[in-house]
Amino acid sequence: MVGSTGIAGLTLGGGIGWLDRLAGLTCDNLASAEVATADGRLLRASETEHPDLFWALRGGGGNFGVVTSFSYLLHRVTQAYGGLLGYTFDQAAKVLEAYAALSDQAPDRLALYAALATAPPLPFIPRGLQGQPVAALLPVCFGTADDHPERTVAAVRSLLPPPAVDTTGPMSYHQIQRFSEGPTMPGAHHYYTAEWLDFLDGTAIESLVSAAARATSPLSIIVLKRMGGATARVPAEATAFRYRQAAHNLDIHAQWVPAGDPAPHGAWAHDTRRAVRHASAGGGYVNFIDGDLGDERVRAAYGANYGRLAEVKAAYDPDNFFRFNHNIVPAAAVR
Ligand SMILES: Cc1cc2nc3c(=O)[nH]c(=O)nc-3n(C[C@H](O)[C@H](O)[C@H](O)COP(=O)(O)OP(=O)(O)OC[C@H]3O[C@@H](n4cnc5c(N)ncnc54)[C@H](O)[C@@H]3O)c2cc1C
Repeated sequence: MVGSTGIAGLTLGGGIGWLDRLAGLTCDNLASAEVATADGRLLRASETEHPDLFWALRGGGGNFGVVTSFSYLLHRVTQAYGGLLGYTFDQAAKVLEAYAALSDQAPDRLALYAALATAPPLPFIPRGLQGQPVAALLPVCFGTADDHPERTVAAVRSLLPPPAVDTTGPMSYHQIQRFSEGPTMPGAHHYYTAEWLDFLDGTAIESLVSAAARATSPLSIIVLKRMGGATARVPAEATAFRYRQAAHNLDIHAQWVPAGDPAPHGAWAHDTRRAVRHASAGGGYVNFIDGDLGDERVRAAYGANYGRLAEVKAAYDPDNFFRFNHNIVPAAAVR
């Protein structure tokens, strides 16, 4: 959802964003890739060439070689309507309840995020709100004029009292890609953790609101993203990306200025994730999970697809040359 994110790692880990409900994950739109393997071969992977490698590249991360070229399927994006609806923090639980209620009825053309953050000093945010904790909904609806995307966004807005900030309106795809850059600060220190959630109940909402209130840095942010749509229509074993049936992606993003002890920020992120584990689908999104918690979290991120990934790893990188990543251990090594 941020224009500056590298497309290589994004694709190899899956790739979620504004269009996944409509057009699938980034990896679902990968047509082929060229891969330099650990033994120096340059291979082409597609549905018909090295299909096992192609399966693994779509979610398995940088475990199988250096991808030197990606070919994608493209989709024409027509009119889009959306933006940010910002609410004072006393509305936070209601905002997440509205997000959860909407999630169950949302059409595929509606991309929907919810966020708990501290309002940044951006020009469209009233001065009185800047620096204050806030809750936000980010609905973006795609479609032609006949689809009336503005009506879908109006239905989102109608579930809550009038927002303190409302930037919704017609947007180009380029504007959509740029408008979420505000909360990410280049040069800051970051620590991500994440979990796929099957549902968002009252306990989870209460836990997330309470965590946001205790955030150790005003730059930290909790983001929920509605999944489903085209992503969920691909079978879980069709690509290495596993958690296609999860209802939400929870991204807990600790971010702080580079000073002082990083430990409290990481601890806050993990405590927040643990507080909602009753709703977990089983693991976290590999592109958002902590890299320092080791094998168990990586295995959980792949769930039942891990065994097949380990077999493909053994076929293409038996010595685990590519190991400075969310590492998949070659099957032969664990036999
Ligand atoms: C601000 C921000 C916003 C983000 N938003 C999203 C989002 O909306 N949706 C989403 O899905 N993810 C998002 N991410 C996560 C993002 O997908 C990962 O950080 C991804 O790894 C970035 O890709 P990169 O090419 O920059 O990877 P890098 O950081 O350069 O590399 C990460 C790893 O990817 C692998 N890799 C990268 N390039 C190659 C290659 N050519 N061949 C083989 N392996 C390779 C390697 O294992 C490498 O260690 C975001 C990250 C940030 C920092």
